[in-house]
Amino acid sequence: MFPPTVSAAALAPDCGAATLTIDVGAVVENWRRLKKLGSGADCGAVVKADAYGLGAAVVAPALAAAGCRTFFVAVADEALALRPLLPADVRLYVLGGLMGALADDGAAQAYVDADIRPVLNHLGDIDRWAALAARLGRPSPAAAHIDTGMNRLGLGADELAALAAQPQRLAGVDVGLWISHLARSEEAAEPMNPAQLARFRAALAVLPRAPASLANSSGVFLGRDYHFDLLRPGAALYGINPTPGAANPMRAAVRLDARVLQVRDVDSPASVGYGAAHRIDAPTRIATIAAGYADGYFRSAGGRGIVHFNGVAAPVVGRVSMDLITVDVGGLPPGAVRPGDWAQIVGPDNPVDAAAAQAQTIGYEMLTALGRRYRRAYAPLEKASLEDGNGQ
Ligand SMILES: *Cc1c(COP(=O)(O)O)cnc(C)c1O
Repeated sequence: MFPPTVSAAALAPDCGAATLTIDVGAVVENWRRLKKLGSGADCGAVVKADAYGLGAAVVAPALAAAGCRTFFVAVADEALALRPLLPADVRLYVLGGLMGALADDGAAQAYVDADIRPVLNHLGDIDRWAALAARLGRPSPAAAHIDTGMNRLGLGADELAALAAQPQRLAGVDVGLWISHLARSEEAAEPMNPAQLARFRAALAVLPRAPASLANSSGVFLGRDYHFDLLRPGAALYGINPTPGAANPMRAAVRLDARVLQVRDVDSPASVGYGAAHRIDAPTRIATIAAGYADGYFRSAGGRGIVHFNGVAAPVVGRVSMDLITVDVGGLPPGAVRPGDWAQIVGPDNPVDAAAAQAQTIGYEMLTALGRRYRRAYAPLEKASLEDGNGQ
């Protein structure tokens, strides 16, 4: 289910192409910071998509050890893989609900057997879960999602009205949490935020009492009205800035360095890479680096991305290949970049949000696309050192 957690040290030391360093301590520190901001609310953790690419099998147990008691994944298979790695008193919710298994008690029974909880998203989910509880003769724990404007998952206004009018439909459903999800929480002044808050409050007022959760990462920064009983951050745990446009209040949790394979002097006129997409108009040097779109280095970063050599920026030129990028290092002194050196692709010089923007995407997509063939080192970032010392 999860990619193998390869310790960089366990592999042949000198022939690694790229190293992804993941700072689990920074993730835990970010969780603590968010919890502290939460006006007394508890703080859960969203670890879907393999903890946004960082490795749920490592991240989730570390957060559980730090005191996190509520986790969210997207799909049932993620929960089934993660459940054995988490303490028994931890609640593990599946945001996708019952995965459409409406005609079949067997699928619902699988949740009970594995001690995972669905987030019930529509009346069909609720009826299926209630039917299972009736058959088992005991309450079945779940969360339920109220749509307040995303129009993606959750009970719509008509379903909410039906449920409020027929609360017996929840008989046997042990609702441990009502959730809703904000569409524009990273835009603090956006009127859609208070509008969703008001709809959530109105829904809670007509539903049976249970703890409530509204705030994703950016929602935590909208203030105490948004905190309710449980915060539900994902991105901010992993170092993505939850307050775009302002300084990032989170600690970076990921660093990516890739090896320089070759450096060549290129005369002009010439071109670089597939499609001859980059024209060389004046003599320069091109460094070829061992990461490409097969590693999650997006093609859209061709001609836009930036890598750093000991703090000095160099532009990615030409198209991104499957396994390689080409970088113009003509701005660095001759000999400053040599085969075997490391290029910092994501790190202190180029934070994940900046690297994502260069690829015309967001940090969320960048992290969840991180490749499977990087050597993964779970280590504190301040102490991360690559074998030739170029890793600062
Ligand atoms: C992904 C997700 C979150 C986490 O959002 P972030 O912006 O990453 O903090 C919270 N709630 C739901 C329903 C989600 O789908």
